[in-house]
Amino acid sequence: MPKKPTNEERCSFCGRPASDCGMLLSGLNGYICSDCARQAGQIFAEHTKNAPQAFALQKDDIPRPAEIKTFLDQYVIGQDDAKRVLSVAVYNHYKRLKYNAEHGDKNDVEIEKSNIVMVGETGTGKTLLARTIARLLKVPFCIADATTLTEAGYVGDDVENVLVRLLQAANYDVPSCERGIVFIDEIDKIARKSENPSITRDVSGEGVQQALLKLLEGAEVNVPPEGGRKHPEQKLIKINTRNILFICGGAFDGVERAIASRLNSNVIGFKGDEKRQQLDRENMLQYVQPMDLKKFGLIPELVGRFPVLTYLQPLDREALRRILTEPKNALVKQYVELFKMDDVNLEFATETLDLVVDRAVEYHLGARGLRSIMEGIMTDLMFDLPQMGKGSTYTVTREMAEQKIKL
Ligand code: ADP
Repeated sequence: MPKKPTNEERCSFCGRPASDCGMLLSGLNGYICSDCARQAGQIFAEHTKNAPQAFALQKDDIPRPAEIKTFLDQYVIGQDDAKRVLSVAVYNHYKRLKYNAEHGDKNDVEIEKSNIVMVGETGTGKTLLARTIARLLKVPFCIADATTLTEAGYVGDDVENVLVRLLQAANYDVPSCERGIVFIDEIDKIARKSENPSITRDVSGEGVQQALLKLLEGAEVNVPPEGGRKHPEQKLIKINTRNILFICGGAFDGVERAIASRLNSNVIGFKGDEKRQQLDRENMLQYVQPMDLKKFGLIPELVGRFPVLTYLQPLDREALRRILTEPKNALVKQYVELFKMDDVNLEFATETLDLVVDRAVEYHLGARGLRSIMEGIMTDLMFDLPQMGKGSTYTVTREMAEQKIKL
């Protein structure tokens, strides 16, 4: 409780003695006068006014699934199934928040969280989908990498650090953070090595899954606000994860085998043969089921916490070609803009883009390969760019591109 100071004491902010100030309040190591306190109040008020208010959910703010999908379409090519699933999940997340806010603890129906797993080869757009959703969202969002996580007490990040990022994204506002969305990438990398529980400690696999389970289940978690290890002297912030939506992504390399063997043993007999023939063997991921993830090495409890499971298609030539030119921030558009800043009009011959796609298909890196191939072609050009004639047009021909890629 602040005590009234004697006349000799001064305001630690403006330095005036108590006799000159209307009132002086004492703190642990100093004093503040009424003028400085008022000014501080104004500064705080100003700061709060300017701080993003985006996380306050208004009724009309909730984007409909179709709107979410249309937004995703601007940035992500194809992947319609994943887009629809994500759109519905995000829409329901909002509705659930609203329902809980309106009904408090007197819920007649408990609307459960629908955490999501996205399965798909590398470079097919899992992270891009998550990032694009983040652009649209009115709740805090962060991306974490499962490979950096370890069980508490081992070298690496504690699982709680996932929430530190979310807390930072929420400007350290705990109630906002508690309604956010977390994207955990490379969830397949914490699979245990065999389907059976391990006897020895599995530092990076099963232990992390167990730790993650706690976050997913909805628990009060103490997080160190600055991240890093928990130190006994550090102040911890309590975050309840009950309303936080988790979206995970992973390539699950080899899970197709589990899917195929499940499907083969499921369809027996004449009718089965017919069904088997109808299977699209080129893209087995579309048939993924929770038990396949279990077979891959995710513990059943964790799989159970992800009621929504969706997949991403491998990108074919046509999709790769569209990715080069169509999305709002397509690579070709980016280079054109960069050249425009130097007053040079950049064009790509159609055959050049076909060549880039051919190479990307060879590299098996999905759309991830496109960027590095384009950089290989464009680096020298960009080096010479400032010397090019203002107002000129430059066309990147296939011959030129072939030479650059060959080198
Ligand atoms: P991953 O599935 O491995 O998470 P990313 O989403 O990180 O793949 O994709 C890598 C890059 O490839 C992205 O930055 C994006 O530019 C491009 N990309 C991947 N898939 C698509 C897609 N479906 N539509 C548009 N761009 C894509």
